[in-house]
Amino acid sequence: MTAAEMTWPDLLNRPLKMLIDGQWVSSQSDAHMEVINPSNGQVLVQQSLGGAHEVDLAVQAARRAFETGPWSRMRPSERTRLLLQLADALEHNGDELALLETLNTGKPLKIARAFDVGMAAECLRYNAGWATKLNGETRNVSLPGDWHAYTLREPVGVVGLIVPWNVPLAMAVSKMSPALAAGCTVVLKPAELTPLTALRLGELIQALGFPPGVVNIVTGLGHEAGQAIVAHPGVDKISFTGSTAVGKSLLTQAAGNLKRVSLELGGKSPVFIFADADVERAMDAAARGIFGNTGQVCAAGSRLFVHRSVADRVIEGIAQRARALRVAPGLSPDCEIGPVISARQRERVMGYIDSGRAEGAEVVAGGEAVQGEGFFVQPTVLLNTRADMKVVREEIFGPVLSTQLFDDDSLAQLAARGNDTDYGLSASIWTRDLRVAHQMVRRLRSGNVRVNAAAALDFAMPFGGYKQSGWGRENGREGVEAYTELKSVAIDLN
Ligand code: NAD
Repeated sequence: MTAAEMTWPDLLNRPLKMLIDGQWVSSQSDAHMEVINPSNGQVLVQQSLGGAHEVDLAVQAARRAFETGPWSRMRPSERTRLLLQLADALEHNGDELALLETLNTGKPLKIARAFDVGMAAECLRYNAGWATKLNGETRNVSLPGDWHAYTLREPVGVVGLIVPWNVPLAMAVSKMSPALAAGCTVVLKPAELTPLTALRLGELIQALGFPPGVVNIVTGLGHEAGQAIVAHPGVDKISFTGSTAVGKSLLTQAAGNLKRVSLELGGKSPVFIFADADVERAMDAAARGIFGNTGQVCAAGSRLFVHRSVADRVIEGIAQRARALRVAPGLSPDCEIGPVISARQRERVMGYIDSGRAEGAEVVAGGEAVQGEGFFVQPTVLLNTRADMKVVREEIFGPVLSTQLFDDDSLAQLAARGNDTDYGLSASIWTRDLRVAHQMVRRLRSGNVRVNAAAALDFAMPFGGYKQSGWGRENGREGVEAYTELKSVAIDLN
């Protein structure tokens, strides 16, 4: 699809509403907020801001759909069928969804089409299969007498799903699909900056005949709608993806009814390039890993550790790639890197680059905001960074790579440098030496480790963080089991 072939999405022709109990409604208070296109700063549409009232209605609807409605009692194969149909519907409406995602996030249209929509459909297909494969098991107990003892996996109930703005559609789907496969009903809150694709998803869900109340979508601010979901006594579990600071703050709110909580939080992921690495591939991957999605990726490889013997070549190679990347509005056919999500985010990213400079880092590529409309930042590479600098310690969530050299440090020392962070989400290792690769894999305190590979997101592989990168895992069996409770049953046969 080229810009000339695109039709303006119908969703943007009127103020956005929320999906509650199968109905499209505005907030009772009539509070609204603009949805902005970060490629030009212009208003796309108004969204309704839900609050405690709308959250309560949505939770009640989800509770009814769970307790008395058909969803949790539906034959698992029926749930599979609906989820597969939703995957097909996403692909069928893929051009429109990609356009909405690009308008709302600024990411390149072809990436939105191939990656964001494609991943969302894949995720649904993967999780659809789990609906028929969630089983308990029989247990051999040693109690006196004869027993039939077994476990049952049951849906946890009503779940609140709170997602960020960096990959809005894929994020909403990656939380919703395992929850629905497990038989839960959901209240989804998209990020206030990016509600468009979640609401279009809601329309598709409704058109496919999902029972009312199974999926509710409440748009609104984090400290209003988000907080109301977290605090609501009718919500059995929260699954949150977002910043570590907000993730921590949710825990006290969720304690009221001791909700189950899954957290996918921030990262400051190391990339190690050893002297024997395939340096060309490593440079490509390192550049993609920090500049892709304008660096707004939780698993972005933001701390590069490179062996001194190849450091000049690697750092200059990545810097050249940074300089060559075409920074442009997402709808431009030239776009390789879109804007960051908001003026505030651009200020934040620039603040980090300035602090890096002030603490002695040298900017070898980028380093400036792009003047003109939209919220653009040049892809940036910083040299001479140290472990104690703010740019190295804190998650920037922007296209900024910090680089550090290593000599013949022992693997223990090098891994300790990689682990010297509050986070533990992801890490990459580039070497041809299997011994080095395996030892590093074992030493790194990180939920996801890749060897000689850039991104390796697959829905069969658990994803999540050690340390302050979160609690629990998404994807794989673990991801769907996270939406279940385990019941032990013992029957005395005597
Ligand atoms: P954020 O924490 O500000 O917001 C995330 C979501 O939480 C939004 O929907 C927001 O409205 C809501 N929220 C904010 N305050 C809330 C509150 N008090 N109660 C309930 N909900 C609240 O994060 P962000 O700026 O939107 O996203 C960027 C962050 O997300 C980064 O730190 C990034 O690392 C993280 N992230 C993590 C992953 C992962 O899988 N680990 C994936 C993507 C993004």
